[in-house]
Amino acid sequence: MTQGKHPDMKINVAQLLKEPTGAVRRGNLSEDITGMDDDLEIKSLLTGPLKMIRTADSILVTASLRTALGLQCSRCLEPFSAPVELEIEEEFYPRVDIHTGAKIPVTQTEEEAAIIDEQHVLDLAEVVRQAIFLALPMHPLCTEDCAGLCSQCGQNFKDGPCECTAEVVDPRLEILKQLL
Ligand SMILES: [Zn+2]
Ligand SMILES: [Zn+2]
Repeated sequence: MTQGKHPDMKINVAQLLKEPTGAVRRGNLSEDITGMDDDLEIKSLLTGPLKMIRTADSILVTASLRTALGLQCSRCLEPFSAPVELEIEEEFYPRVDIHTGAKIPVTQTEEEAAIIDEQHVLDLAEVVRQAIFLALPMHPLCTEDCAGLCSQCGQNFKDGPCECTAEVVDPRLEILKQLL
């Protein structure tokens, strides 16, 4: 793990690639992924268990990870921090054969993100980044019942009611009053 604006999450899997199909590695991640993406405000370490399985032609990575993100409430526009859980399941395909050193052609169905490079290193960063974006709520709410802002004065109802709410009169009642 290097420090910097765009952290990587590199794991050398050379040893695991040499082992027979079904071989397993388990570990726990605890990574500072601050700066992973300019559009993400990462508030805590990315943590959780990680499992790597040697398959016939890949390394299958599964992980249950959690972190926290800084979001803006879609109703009251206040910033808040929300926990995010990521279920990662991704197959990483080697570029070269671990035993012969021969290049393995990359098929079109394999994503660029899920490649084990010539040094037998896989990088989880891009897969994690994509998983975070998928986990982001479309309409983040600071609390489930956030009442939002007054459309007239902009008061956050979290801070109490405003003056104008009491004076809103249903226009239909107003017409009725005139008729009477
Ligand atoms: Zn809110
Ligand atoms: Zn108001």
